[in-house]
Amino acid sequence: MNFEQFSLDSRLMQGIKKAGYEKATPIQEAAIPAAIRGRDIIGTAQTGTGKTAAFVLPILNKLLEGPRHVSRALIVTPTRELAEQIHDVVKELSAGTKLRSATIYGGVGPAPQVKALREGAEILIVCPGRFLDLVNQGQARLDKIEILVLDEADRMFDMGFLPDVKRIIKVLPTTRQTMLFSATFPGEVEFLATSTLKNPQKIAMGISRPAHTVTHALYPVPSHLKSQLLLALLKKTDTNSVLIFARTKYRAQKVAQQIERAGHKVTSLHGDRSQ
Ligand code: AMP
Repeated sequence: MNFEQFSLDSRLMQGIKKAGYEKATPIQEAAIPAAIRGRDIIGTAQTGTGKTAAFVLPILNKLLEGPRHVSRALIVTPTRELAEQIHDVVKELSAGTKLRSATIYGGVGPAPQVKALREGAEILIVCPGRFLDLVNQGQARLDKIEILVLDEADRMFDMGFLPDVKRIIKVLPTTRQTMLFSATFPGEVEFLATSTLKNPQKIAMGISRPAHTVTHALYPVPSHLKSQLLLALLKKTDTNSVLIFARTKYRAQKVAQQIERAGHKVTSLHGDRSQ
């Protein structure tokens, strides 16, 4: 399907062209018309399907009409990386408009975020913890929010953010449009969906499974031979980059050291390291 068929504002068509999108992806085909009609949406789609543009385009299209200098769309995501990725898509697709967007998350100073809130950025892309702090401090004006997106709801649940998400939802106008995306639907996310969405259109794209190029194997191995096995596997693996998961921070650090000693370039990622 071509993007022309969605009757989007011409300024957004420019953004789409600049982004290099030629045809809508299946999730965009399914979600954009429903979202433009104002329907609530519950989407099962993973990253890589084009789901960000599927909710960003209807948001931008709606915000081009109506008041400026007041926050009208709120996108809630589990991580700052995802918030920044979504922000990149928003900036790219809204380049031909004067709509303003801002990200809000912890781990960085709040001053620019408070400023963006005061100035009424039309689109807010937030992580729940820091945003709720600013809401509780009275820094955010949310009474004009028209669209709420809950992205990667299952990850927000995994990371323990659902209570904060529910507190945020409580202070939003009830007359809003809501879109919820999740790759899986554990009970808590299902409950969040039924209690938050009104007569949602269900859109399911593909099933959760690794790409067909991925294989998996299990090696039963005694603890004291694990590192040697790992090094042997690395030796015979023909690839440039490898991701290794460990159960504890200590173990991650230790495995990284062992791999480094064997001559590989390696770094570890865990909660005791700075961002
Ligand atoms: P997402 O699933 O939102 O993370 O998007 C995955 C990637 O697909 C991003 O790099 C987008 O820029 C790109 N993308 C989204 N929609 C389209 C489209 N219709 N045509 C080509 N690329 C797209």
